[in-house]
Amino acid sequence: MSLPSTTIAAQATPAGSGGVGIIRISGPLVPSMMKAFLHKTLEPRYAYFGTFYAGSEPIDEGVAIYFAAPSSFTGEDVLELQGHGGQVVLERILQHALQLGAQQAKAGEFSYRAFLNGRLDLAQAEAIADLISAKSAQAAKLALRSLQGAFTNEIHNLTSQLTSLRALVEHFLDFDETEDAPITIPQLKQQLTELITKTKDLLTKSSLGAKQQAGLKLAIVGKPNAGKSTLFNYLCRDERAIVTDIPGTTRDVLIASVQLAKGLTVEVIDTAGFRDDPDIIEAKGILLAKKMLQLVDRIIYLVDGSIFDINDLKNQLEPLKKLAPVTVVFNKIDQLSVNERSKIAKLKLNGADVLLISLQTGENLDGLINYLVQQLAPANQTETLFGARARQLQELTAALNSLLQALSLLDASLDWTMLAEELTSASSALARILGIDLDKDMLDAIFSSFCVGK
Ligand code: GDP
Repeated sequence: MSLPSTTIAAQATPAGSGGVGIIRISGPLVPSMMKAFLHKTLEPRYAYFGTFYAGSEPIDEGVAIYFAAPSSFTGEDVLELQGHGGQVVLERILQHALQLGAQQAKAGEFSYRAFLNGRLDLAQAEAIADLISAKSAQAAKLALRSLQGAFTNEIHNLTSQLTSLRALVEHFLDFDETEDAPITIPQLKQQLTELITKTKDLLTKSSLGAKQQAGLKLAIVGKPNAGKSTLFNYLCRDERAIVTDIPGTTRDVLIASVQLAKGLTVEVIDTAGFRDDPDIIEAKGILLAKKMLQLVDRIIYLVDGSIFDINDLKNQLEPLKKLAPVTVVFNKIDQLSVNERSKIAKLKLNGADVLLISLQTGENLDGLINYLVQQLAPANQTETLFGARARQLQELTAALNSLLQALSLLDASLDWTMLAEELTSASSALARILGIDLDKDMLDAIFSSFCVGK
């Protein structure tokens, strides 16, 4: 792909008023623009305080920094003008840059150039966009890990193992019977199996990371009067609940973004609305409720501990368990004797965890929160997960499928040509994660979803 020869400029800070606003310029015209704006040439990577000019007229004053190619974000000459954060002032600086020959940068164009100049791979560029749009501390942490290359390193490791494996398979392709084979077939199989295990592990850690980035979801389900609204209100405390119309149902679903623990924000969904609604009996309503529950990371099935029928409860849990992991929470234990409590605690509900609480007295509510935090985001798990996008997960899955296919060929037919092809397609899928060999339209689509000025 040819490198751009134009110079681009954009406001790098958001529109509106602020203490400081930044105009970023990148490209070959930067040295001459620097002289025009500042009436001098700056030393690279030093902050310079002075007046910004349009011709001889001062238009602002602030800090300017020059980054000489290739040691800049884009890999090109870059000038950052940090002026006063007013829209009129910033617009004047930007307009003057355009008059001096720059073009208004398109969304994501600075990152695109950084990618084309090899300053970042595609996974890192996507991590920048994810870091900017992160809605929780854990999402930001995951994006930063990927930006700093943790995910990329894993892909490089897999790729280099795959490359050595391919070299060995190529050997079998034009194998001369008189030569010694560099590796036995069982050894080859062992190496391939190890690679499959590593790819699966990366896929698991990236899928979990992707879920955390997208935001974890928790649904409260149960019969009328179990205490669902009370639990929802307790979890929300002073957070604002959002009432959402689910198309096709006449009742509302309540959704609130709740901070369960420091840095752990979870979306809590109260399904009381569509459960109470007789329309739920309609296939359409059930389908929508099901679809919604399929997307959650855990279901709390809330039971009124003072009146329940164990067989009915088991029937209620059966379909739910197919949608998401279920925890059965018995509420209203303030109304139970010690004996009744211990009977409930010993219930076996097909592997579902059982918790006892009282929303009225507050008993074991801390226990419930600690349990949820542990289930949804096990301590230190974020350190080992990778932030990933759907696109990257698809490519990883494609790579894994090709490797599994290669393994079955090794077991069955020893068709070396097909085996080599499977390894090549696994390699290509891994390369596409980093943006190698992706076609221009695809790259354009990815970068244009970034924000302007980034
Ligand atoms: P929902 O229909 O599942 O949303 O249930 P609600 O949250 O509206 O609660 C039903 C009733 O149970 C209300 O009168 C609550 O005050 C009451 N309730 C909720 N939790 C408890 C509890 O822990 N103990 C007792 N005794 N009553 C409770």
